[in-house]
Amino acid sequence: MSIEVKNITKRFGAFTALDNLNLEVNSGELLALLGPSGCGKTTLLRVIAGLETPDQGQILFHGEDATDTHVRERQVGFVFQHYALFRHMTVFENVAFGLRVRTKKTRPSEAVIKEKVHALLNMVQLDWLADRFPAQLSGGQRQRIALARALAVEPKVLLLDEPFGALDTKVRKELRRWLRRLHDEMHITSVFVTHDQEEALEVADRVVVMNKGQIEQIGTPEQVYDTPATPFVYQFLGDVNLFHSRVHEGWAEVGGARFAAPDASSSAATVYVRPHEIDLSRVANASAIEGRIIHVRLLGATVRLEVEAANADIVEVELTRERQQEGQWKTGETVFLTPREAKVYAQAA
Ligand code: ATP
Repeated sequence: MSIEVKNITKRFGAFTALDNLNLEVNSGELLALLGPSGCGKTTLLRVIAGLETPDQGQILFHGEDATDTHVRERQVGFVFQHYALFRHMTVFENVAFGLRVRTKKTRPSEAVIKEKVHALLNMVQLDWLADRFPAQLSGGQRQRIALARALAVEPKVLLLDEPFGALDTKVRKELRRWLRRLHDEMHITSVFVTHDQEEALEVADRVVVMNKGQIEQIGTPEQVYDTPATPFVYQFLGDVNLFHSRVHEGWAEVGGARFAAPDASSSAATVYVRPHEIDLSRVANASAIEGRIIHVRLLGATVRLEVEAANADIVEVELTRERQQEGQWKTGETVFLTPREAKVYAQAA
């Protein structure tokens, strides 16, 4: 089932939470809505679900206008960050719930319900917990049960709002991979909300980067990471050093390093460089940024150096452990930085 979001605007009083949004979710796709807190991700998900009525625009399901279709008729399944499973029901009963509350005409027989619930519990690899109550489960297990419950009614669309947001990093990472595998088996059109760029890049087929109720960019993880359409996307998708620079004869200069400025008519530009895309050397170099290492921190697989540049900017440089072992970089040393990659955006006059 494809979804089309057409010119959607949603206001809360004088505040515009969604500002004329357009977006297509392809059938069978796993799409991530990514953006900072308050940018409108949840509101967009709720509009798609039919839990929120837009002030303007349309939602199309499989090409048909569903804007006025009631949430119950949209055939969507939900998983929320704090999905309250029914506390007084076992895992089995929680998953069976959506089937049991159907009208007599559409309700499956007990035997069919039993078979189906066990199949779903097997799919989320938790059949062995069928007789437990939610309080006896871990957070990660609860979210997997919540997903099984959402899938029980065979939704055409699955909507997930920060489903792993409340879990610790390790469990979160496991569940991400597990969600991706599950999606590859089921191909159910899914939209999930996250503010974690790593999660969006790892899990989604395409990522929608949102900011202040608008879409900054839509693309595959590679597209949004490698060719960010705006400075916002560049900064949101990873750590970045930012240098304010004057433009001179088509070049933006930072220390001795020069970068081609895209808009040569502008007199100022901002140069963005990711910490892991900087080479460093002890040999003086006129086309490098000179600085002094003021801090060396171990981040696990990598090492992060803080370098104070001659103009007092702090530049973050990230090295693999191997490169740090080769270089033995130490606090207090003078170094010369050469960015391998940079993005230059003209500054508005
Ligand atoms: P988060 O990651 O923090 O959940 P979000 O991107 O999901 O953020 P939304 O929950 O969609 O953001 O909210 C977008 C904006 O709309 C916020 O500024 C929020 O305060 C506002 N908002 C959301 N729901 C309402 C409401 N019912 N009444 C008034 N303002 C609202």
